[in-house]
Amino acid sequence: MAKKGRVFSGARPTGRQHLGNYLGAIQNYVKLQDDYDCIYCIVDIHALTTMETTRDLKQNTIEMALDWLAAGIRPDESIMFIQSHVPEVMELHTMLSMVTPLGKLTDLPTFKEKVREQPNNVNYGLVGYPVLMAADIMLYKADFVPVGVDQAPHIEFTREIARSFNYRYGKNVLVEPQMKVTKVPKVLGIDGAQKMGKSLNNHIEIAATPEETQQRVMQMVTDPARIKRNDPGNPDVCNVFTMHKIFSSPEEIEMVNTECRRAGIGCVDCKKLYAKNLNAHLEPFRARRAEMAEHPQDVWDILEDGAKRARSIAQETMREVHDAIGLP
Ligand code: SF4
Repeated sequence: MAKKGRVFSGARPTGRQHLGNYLGAIQNYVKLQDDYDCIYCIVDIHALTTMETTRDLKQNTIEMALDWLAAGIRPDESIMFIQSHVPEVMELHTMLSMVTPLGKLTDLPTFKEKVREQPNNVNYGLVGYPVLMAADIMLYKADFVPVGVDQAPHIEFTREIARSFNYRYGKNVLVEPQMKVTKVPKVLGIDGAQKMGKSLNNHIEIAATPEETQQRVMQMVTDPARIKRNDPGNPDVCNVFTMHKIFSSPEEIEMVNTECRRAGIGCVDCKKLYAKNLNAHLEPFRARRAEMAEHPQDVWDILEDGAKRARSIAQETMREVHDAIGLP
């Protein structure tokens, strides 16, 4: 069946992925493959803008690639590669930077936020970050970029750069990508308050062992008003219940919903049930991952093959870009 267009998405090499990554991005990546030609990129150059050390960069890259593959990215069908393996992206970044007003970049809320976060490392790469992102997308002539609602301004910015370029050089070379807004659940960390993230150490790794997973689940914060076992709880304010709604059966969800409110189930048992269901859900993924981890060279080969395929698209785009600009 003909696909509906090309999708591009990139993520920084953050190492082993957590449930937030899984539910928020990876599952969607896997699903999109059914209808679109997908290009998934591990954006290591982007990562350099904020990294203090590159010591773990290689390991984090392969860990993330393993998670993606084991979760269902099909490398024979989709293109999966490392950003720096297709250096044309840096070239396009330079070309695009000529049509991007500097004031616009320094005015972006994301740039201001980074300046606040790392005042001692306000590097040039941080300013050009959205331009490099635009280069990632346009180099591969992506029709769609899957985004959450909060990322919509980035794509709008990419579209503006495409328009500026095409207008400046009088040729319709760069494709204005469309947003593919995906409704993804907001996954809170085990603290039940903040978005799940490694830096907050409130995450659950999808490749963790069943025991580690259960341990983390048992640390989850529940309805704060439920102090004693006999207190009735309110599942509507409990993150454990939110996760039950994703990983448990309809009967179990109904049971927790009812029994929690009348103190028929305690939080310990409720969490054990969630941990059991989560482990059961992740079991096939973990088995595939463990098998692939035995042959890391195969994963590097997949990434290399992906880079080769990505590069042939990139080189074609760059030929058109050179031609449009009129480079001798
Ligand atoms: Fe949350 Fe379950 Fe405890 Fe209710 S019983 S407060 S849903 S952990």
